[in-house]
Amino acid sequence: MNTFLLEIVTPEHLVFSKQVNSLVVRGVEGELGILPGHIPLVTPLQVAPLTVKVNGETLTIAVHGGFVEVHKDKVTVLAESAELPKDIDLERAEAAKERAQRRLQSRSRQDEIDHRRAELALQRAVTRIKVSAGKGQQ
Ligand code: ATP
Repeated sequence: MNTFLLEIVTPEHLVFSKQVNSLVVRGVEGELGILPGHIPLVTPLQVAPLTVKVNGETLTIAVHGGFVEVHKDKVTVLAESAELPKDIDLERAEAAKERAQRRLQSRSRQDEIDHRRAELALQRAVTRIKVSAGKGQQ
């Protein structure tokens, strides 16, 4: 069979576990396409939508950082959080996006850690909004 097992795991639960045809993730060094038989590797991921092909259908999943591990017959994504489109609360993501944007725009002298935190929160919110709207495909 021209598939491999994809598991997406967070500290809270197993978000996804299925045989898939292909996977596209956004690694820190750029986009990475994975087909059956890909060489083993481990690489950190960006906060971004991940795209999976299952039986010819394309599914996007919001994945918030973490790592992808490519093994011979199995690919594991380990992330702080990850959501399927149906599990995304769009209003919550919109509110998080506005909160993060307000923080980034406020001119008060915040330290760099707060700025970075707001940037990451914004990326998570934007990723959730895209995936929820079915626009996460790369
Ligand atoms: P918020 O500020 O709304 O809490 P966040 O980006 O800080 O967003 P995370 O720390 O990434 O949230 O996630 C905490 C938990 O809440 C995770 O289990 C994550 O899957 C879930 N979660 C966060 N935002 C949403 C959302 N918009 N829809 C569904 N689940 C969400």
